[in-house]
Amino acid sequence: MLFREFAELCDTIEKTSSRLAMADLLAEVFPTLSADDLPIFVRFSRGKIFPDWSAEKLGFGPGLLYEALAYVIGKKRETVISAINSSGDTGRVVEGLLEKREQTMFFSEELELLDVHSRFVQMAKTSGRKSQQERMRSAQYLFSNASPLEGRYLARLMLEEMRIGVGEGVVREAVAKGFAVSEEIVEHAHQALNDLGEVALLAKTNSAALAEVRITPFRPVKMMLAQAGSITGMVETHGSVVAENKYDGSRFQFHKVGSKTAIYSRRLEEMTKSLPDVVALLTAATDHDVIIDGEVIAMQDGKPMPFQTVLRRIRRKHDVAEVAGAISMQPRVFDILVCDGETLIDKPLSERRSILESVMKEFVAPQMVSDSSEDIERYYHAALDSGNEGIMLKVPDSPYLPGNRGKLWIKIKPEVDTIDLTVIGAEWGEGKRAKMFGSFLLACQDENGDLLELSRVATGIDDAMLAELYELFKEKIVAEHGKTVVFEPDVVFEVGYAELQRSTNYAAGYALRFPRFVRLRDDKDPSEIETIESLARRYSMQNKAGQ
Ligand code: AMP
Repeated sequence: MLFREFAELCDTIEKTSSRLAMADLLAEVFPTLSADDLPIFVRFSRGKIFPDWSAEKLGFGPGLLYEALAYVIGKKRETVISAINSSGDTGRVVEGLLEKREQTMFFSEELELLDVHSRFVQMAKTSGRKSQQERMRSAQYLFSNASPLEGRYLARLMLEEMRIGVGEGVVREAVAKGFAVSEEIVEHAHQALNDLGEVALLAKTNSAALAEVRITPFRPVKMMLAQAGSITGMVETHGSVVAENKYDGSRFQFHKVGSKTAIYSRRLEEMTKSLPDVVALLTAATDHDVIIDGEVIAMQDGKPMPFQTVLRRIRRKHDVAEVAGAISMQPRVFDILVCDGETLIDKPLSERRSILESVMKEFVAPQMVSDSSEDIERYYHAALDSGNEGIMLKVPDSPYLPGNRGKLWIKIKPEVDTIDLTVIGAEWGEGKRAKMFGSFLLACQDENGDLLELSRVATGIDDAMLAELYELFKEKIVAEHGKTVVFEPDVVFEVGYAELQRSTNYAAGYALRFPRFVRLRDDKDPSEIETIESLARRYSMQNKAGQ
């Protein structure tokens, strides 16, 4: 397939607002693609270059993109930057600049979809002193052979943000329709494989095998997540429920086959090198081949340390041995996804738990099973007293649903009025803070994963955190207009607030009263932030409570 054909299809989808129509369009195209093109097409349509289980990065920030483009159109880097600053949509700006250049061009090679992909893979692979130069050369090659429309989508792919409205749901529907398989089977295969490209390929080549897919060691699957809820609600609906401490640490998934081990973060990044002590503890605790789900907490002098300590330790990739001495990292495991080659996610939690207890000699998180709200309430207070964030309530006969944030796992914690939002921009500070960001612009997401502005936050950030945030965000600047900066949406803040109000000031239709920064959630991905649907629920609950 030509990249031009892919770009044209993206353009058609971008002009379509109905999810159903998008899925229909994709469902028509998928069966016509070759086995090589299909998985790439599927990933590209969601702005992904690599499978979701892979932590591989293109390593191509906005800065390099501007430079490569400037070279290709024969203009100064500043010209590109000022064009982007006045629009904010990098893809469209690239398209416009290439249009101007087109009039002076005589020939170019047609780009193949596969060729674009292999250039990207090459970009990601390069390392060492000359890597930036090599990436730059690849980007120059791509832009100089791209039509304006292709340029729009090349730029968006490089920034991994397609803006055409195609999310996981649309692709799943399209795969099901296009290859005449049930959506449930597609979803199930997706949970285990964590790569829609591979799911689509399997649907095309061997759809009977879709129902049989197994989780593959060293390809992390998304973690099952929880919703907020109440103890009485859970007991009323399910009777007996499982209660566990909600540890204030960082989520991990541990994979072990023979002597090979790896540990992944909630964002599915490999953390084996920064958590060697945790890997060693877990490896020694089992003789089996396993994939295990848990939380790592930081302990100092026998006391659990706050969550930020864990993250700081994880972020620190060097000097691990020296830091490891000061703070001890302790795993708590609460689920098992694979044991000795058998995928367990469809088995009920109670059964997975027995297997977990039988294969782990240590570190299994204690739990209580009860149908008494009073007993669970007591368990909750004991959990808080011993330094935990609260408790998790789980339905005993529930399967493990990777990536699902449903009602099968409920979190109970005291401060319900905090939400996770993506940082999409900032304003430069004033006075002695002029070289740092003073206030941050935050967004929630709609059902398609598109971001909607919701609030600004400036309160609650001390000087040390401001400096840390400056270091973090300076790499993510996409555009700048006077005092305002636009960021690539990658970082998540947990934000507290006093009240949720209806508002026309922000695209979300709500605003936060007295927003304050609570903490940086760099274990969370922007796809996990608050949804409009959940905001609406909070709003109605808040108003009911006030009556
Ligand atoms: P939240 O981050 O507030 O959405 O809460 C869900 C998170 O709680 C999970 O992603 C885990 O990192 C964490 N957690 C702590 N203890 C447990 C537990 N016992 N079971 C599941 N998740 C837990």
